[in-house]
Amino acid sequence: MSTVPAATSATKNTRPQIDLTVVRREELSPHMVRIVAGGPGFSAYVNNAFIDRYVKIVFPQPGVDYAQPLDLWTIRETMPRAQWPFTRTYTVRWVDTAAQELAIDFVIHGDEGLAGPWAATAKPGDTFTFTGPGGAYNPSPDADWYLFAGDEAALPVIAAVIESLPADARGLAFIEVDGDADIQHIAAPAGVQVNWVRRNGAPAGEGDLLVSAVADADWPTGRVDVFAHGERGYMKALRDVLFVQRGLERKQVSLSGYWAKGRVEDDFQAEKKLPVGKI
Ligand SMILES: Cc1cc2nc3c(=O)[nH]c(=O)nc-3n(C[C@H](O)[C@H](O)[C@H](O)COP(=O)(O)OP(=O)(O)OC[C@H]3O[C@@H](n4cnc5c(N)ncnc54)[C@H](O)[C@@H]3O)c2cc1C
Repeated sequence: MSTVPAATSATKNTRPQIDLTVVRREELSPHMVRIVAGGPGFSAYVNNAFIDRYVKIVFPQPGVDYAQPLDLWTIRETMPRAQWPFTRTYTVRWVDTAAQELAIDFVIHGDEGLAGPWAATAKPGDTFTFTGPGGAYNPSPDADWYLFAGDEAALPVIAAVIESLPADARGLAFIEVDGDADIQHIAAPAGVQVNWVRRNGAPAGEGDLLVSAVADADWPTGRVDVFAHGERGYMKALRDVLFVQRGLERKQVSLSGYWAKGRVEDDFQAEKKLPVGKI
């Protein structure tokens, strides 16, 4: 694991520190767990205007002595970056302000990492901290149809975006999962066809199943709005499909890596500044 925590653009005013308590954990599928969280800290959470809203969950480094209660801004002002807590980025799947709860869906991808293993064993009463939310995307109201592509890490955000579309929206979604048991119900408008791309036991983040499914599909006519996120190599390949093969304009496309095969998030984020990390 990297010893240099990811840099952060979070600021006290725009992406405040939120301290929540786990209310319940739901097993959505063999490879995805939903953490529903709330508690007194929920009152500080303010939704932004974006549908792809995400938060940076904080994981204090073992062996580093942080003053309690944890104050991220004091830590960033007074401690060297090498001692800052690690962060992991997650979509806010839904927010229920009446119940004072929000949900985050975590891919369970094995024993490696911080967030996945944490979510796998989190239990009611556990507390955790994040900053946020950030966000950048809303479906373009001018589009004739919508194209979604992603793997499990992007399943929560793709589901949230699809469920936000108007009832008469049209679109195609391609979502890669391990197998049938990982398919989730998405409350999609009738005109949005959700296609599940199954790896059937092959490792995540490898292969060309998702990219081929998008490239080989019969695309509807009209102006498309694309929302594609997931493993970095997949997104690089999709970049070529979207811009080179299909000739789309930059402003029609929301495309980014959500993780990179074999990289902890700190390294993945740091590599965004290098040629290997650019999409
Ligand atoms: C804006 C944004 C929103 C995101 N939303 C979500 C979300 O809602 N749910 C979600 O689960 N993820 C989401 N992700 C991806 C998530 O941040 C990464 O998967 C992150 O690396 C997980 O942290 P970790 O501590 O579990 O693993 P890390 O410590 O970062 O990595 C440990 C190892 O696990 C591998 N790994 C990491 N993620 C996966 C994966 N998904 N599948 C297989 N292997 C993996 C790494 O390559 C590495 O080898 C989002 C990312 C971004 C940028």
